[in-house]
Amino acid sequence: MPEIFIDGRSVQAEPNQTVIEAAVANGIEMAYFCWHPKLSIAGNCRVCAIQVEGRSWVEIACNMPVSEGLRVQTDTDLVKQYRKSVMQLLTLNHPVDCGICDKAGECKLQDYHYAYNGAPSISVDPKLRLTKFYPLSERIVLDNERCILCSRCVRFTHEISKSKALGIKQRGDASVVRPAEDRSFDNDPYSDNVIDLCPVGALLSRSFFYKSRVWYLQPTKSVCPRCARGCTVQLWHRKPEWKLNALDPQHNVSIERVTPLENPAVNGPWICNVGRDLGPFFERPRAEQAMKKGQPVELAAAIEHARRLIESAQRPVALLSNWGSNEELDAFERALGARFEAFYKIDRVRQPEEPVEDELLVRDDKNPNTAALHARFAPYEGNASLDAADLLLVWGEGFDFTRVPHGAQVILLGAWLHPENAQVDVFIPISIQTERHGHYTNFEGVVSAFEPCFTKKATVAHAETLFVALAAVPVNA
Ligand code: SF4
Ligand code: SF4
Repeated sequence: MPEIFIDGRSVQAEPNQTVIEAAVANGIEMAYFCWHPKLSIAGNCRVCAIQVEGRSWVEIACNMPVSEGLRVQTDTDLVKQYRKSVMQLLTLNHPVDCGICDKAGECKLQDYHYAYNGAPSISVDPKLRLTKFYPLSERIVLDNERCILCSRCVRFTHEISKSKALGIKQRGDASVVRPAEDRSFDNDPYSDNVIDLCPVGALLSRSFFYKSRVWYLQPTKSVCPRCARGCTVQLWHRKPEWKLNALDPQHNVSIERVTPLENPAVNGPWICNVGRDLGPFFERPRAEQAMKKGQPVELAAAIEHARRLIESAQRPVALLSNWGSNEELDAFERALGARFEAFYKIDRVRQPEEPVEDELLVRDDKNPNTAALHARFAPYEGNASLDAADLLLVWGEGFDFTRVPHGAQVILLGAWLHPENAQVDVFIPISIQTERHGHYTNFEGVVSAFEPCFTKKATVAHAETLFVALAAVPVNA
């Protein structure tokens, strides 16, 4: 392992690393716009300037390989002046848009301007005018005035998503990022990653456009449940201290945006566009009212009725949800496993508009916890004959209710509005992922945790505690 020295500090580097990789891996701050650990080296922003001891010129850290005993400085007068000049050049035509820019608060250009420049613009000419709201795709708007031509977005589509859907046209100050003329960027299932990659506010999500300042939001660590990859994500929602009282209170319990949380074991730094759209998915109309044969009842009454049905059933069968967490499966097995013949079902199959499996992340199984269910229970399809069942406990979505045996009673545990909720013997509303802690096991066996960001309503049960209540012996028994 080569030992190098950055500002006099000894750093053990990997043999094939560059100076910037060794610095970042060892927590040494270094400025960069165009460099990204998962993309090829472009070396065009020049802001990762360093000076090798003994040399009288400035070089860049992103394409300098480490070598034994290499000594570099990030803070010589020459480097500081060079970095300041780079910042002056990058801000020469950059609009002073921070007040209305969605990137404000997360913008490297803002941060580096204050860290390495701080001086007013040196421009004496009017700033260059370029397209402000260029429709890059159905999901993304491009502000060419803010673009610093780092080429991260272009390299992403060539090297990671492989759609090759973006490029840079023209030369010099007429250069602009543009999509391929066949509009293939619209069909890139990973296109929204360029929004995160863009170090400035040039690439803007249409779904997050002017929706909230980022400092009003907080992230909650979660797992995308929309396929068996189980990408680690952050669900961004309003901070309690910035709760809105005058506007629609729904804003206080909405997922305003979803971003990847880097997880080398699962998704690296990326997610697909389906994961970005978790907000509308979780905000589908909820079922929050317990029912007996379609008649509203108190939650406790519905649970007690379901408990009695379970107690008196001769051949109860449970069809378990592959959206249930590992903790909920544990609870079911402990409380009701001996009482039911249990199978797991597939809650969601791929819809025509959803992406097919590929080599990057997306899986064809559109459910988060099939692996955990499969390790404990047999699949329902092809295994279970329901004919002899006199009671069905159906948990989650995706069951074809025309297959309920004649005369059998049905207990349904669900979170969303469906016509069947009012047709079964007992309907018990249950919480969703954003309202509880839990873990999913992805298709490769990696277990990931999710946290709650909102509180469930009192009329809704957590499945984990519900299973215990359904197995309880009545107090006066
Ligand atoms: S749009 Fe953003 S990511 Fe793409 S080249 Fe411009 S600054 Fe870089
Ligand atoms: S690849 Fe699968 S788990 Fe990852 S964000 Fe997309 S749908 Fe969600």
